[in-house]
Amino acid sequence: MIVIGGGIGGLSAALALTRKGLKVRLYERASEFGEVGAGLQIAPNCTRILNDYGLLDEATTLGVLPERMIMKDAVDGGELTHLDLKDLERRYGFPYLVIHRSDLHGIFLRACERAGVELVTDAHCVAYENTPGGARVTFADGRSDRAEVVIAADGLHSVARRLLVHDEPVSSAYVAYRGAVPFDQVRANDVHESAVVVYVGPRCHFVQYPLRGGQMFNQVAVFESPKALAGKEDWGTPDELDRAFDGMCPQIKAGLPLMWRDRWWRMYDREPIANWVTGRIALLGDAAHPPLQYMAQGAVMAIEDGWVLAERVGALRTERSEEGSGVDWEAALAAYEAVRPEHCRRVMTTARSWGALWHHDGVKRLQRNALLRARDPHDYSFTDWVYGPTALTPEQEPELYRAIPLESAAVVAEQNSPGDFR
Ligand SMILES: Cc1cc2nc3c(=O)[nH]c(=O)nc-3n(C[C@H](O)[C@H](O)[C@H](O)COP(=O)(O)OP(=O)(O)OC[C@H]3O[C@@H](n4cnc5c(N)ncnc54)[C@H](O)[C@@H]3O)c2cc1C
Repeated sequence: MIVIGGGIGGLSAALALTRKGLKVRLYERASEFGEVGAGLQIAPNCTRILNDYGLLDEATTLGVLPERMIMKDAVDGGELTHLDLKDLERRYGFPYLVIHRSDLHGIFLRACERAGVELVTDAHCVAYENTPGGARVTFADGRSDRAEVVIAADGLHSVARRLLVHDEPVSSAYVAYRGAVPFDQVRANDVHESAVVVYVGPRCHFVQYPLRGGQMFNQVAVFESPKALAGKEDWGTPDELDRAFDGMCPQIKAGLPLMWRDRWWRMYDREPIANWVTGRIALLGDAAHPPLQYMAQGAVMAIEDGWVLAERVGALRTERSEEGSGVDWEAALAAYEAVRPEHCRRVMTTARSWGALWHHDGVKRLQRNALLRARDPHDYSFTDWVYGPTALTPEQEPELYRAIPLESAAVVAEQNSPGDFR
């Protein structure tokens, strides 16, 4: 079979399917495999899968298992709520991991090489088509290839997605700046050495966590771009970065000079879609479900997709024959499509509302803070639906959490609050 795209989604799917005995050829557009050098949070629903692949020990050695996830108010720096990640690990059976993207990508790349995945670079896929009993891909240089099934893991701007839906990425008008630096550069900045910290503020947030066994420190600064709202083309530029965090707490101010200023990431998602499969072509990862990153589940969902597909393939495979792999592809792809789109829809829509909650100003900010401060840190009703075992069937998909209305928080307007109480 063929996988298009050598990001974390494509590589992990290629590995999962090879482990089930399939021959996989993976094509990547770039001339080298690689990932940007920033951090990734990997929740227990994914470390469970890394463990299944025999990769968790390597990931743990290269990453960090933080002790806490702490949410703070970006304006006054005060703690709002936290998760005890050691207790979380006991509950879900697997740890919450933070890891350098290129380390996780490298883990999958090496595992694919060991497993015998055929890895091809400089292969820009420009067309996908179904053929009798399979599918064909065509590359920009005129080459083509054919297989029983093609998995399109070609990211946010997926070419294959156009076979299923004529949609466009949705701009959130938010932009992310990243920066991963040696830990020594932040030691004096009142940072936590063993926590994921998220400062939530009016139209902005700031994330910090350690990487590489605590040798490095990752920061992400996200804000709404006034230029994007004004319809300008060149939005999210560095001149907007510092202004966006004016009035925020000293810990954020200390972190901002360390952000990379030569590149930034505009935040897009797409409307969720229920159909990911057409004939023998299936979408996977961001190609199928690019989220806003507020749930830290984009790469996690991509890895889950490959695991679910491979589990179904394993269950629906008979003896390999001269004619092919012996997989009942119609049934395997239908089983994949029966369970993954609904789960990912829930994550994508929750990510949108989670982002809105983080970015409130005025009285809504005070209501949010009151609700978060009142939360029992050991209440897992907001994580059970996502951090538990990945569902293989629609029946296994857990119930979604029940949202608490902001208005249920009784608050008194703060003196001198920077909010505008809209
Ligand atoms: C600021 C930020 C923070 C994030 N934090 C987290 C987090 O903490 N945890 C988490 O789980 N997720 C996080 N995410 C989301 C996560 O990065 C993505 O969801 C994930 O990387 C998607 O992987 P993918 O392999 O599906 O797509 P991509 O990483 O986009 O990979 C697609 C690959 O396909 C190749 N390709 C594209 N088109 C073609 C073509 N036509 N032919 C051949 N090859 C092609 C590309 O070169 C690329 O290698 C974050 C995202 C952002 C922006």
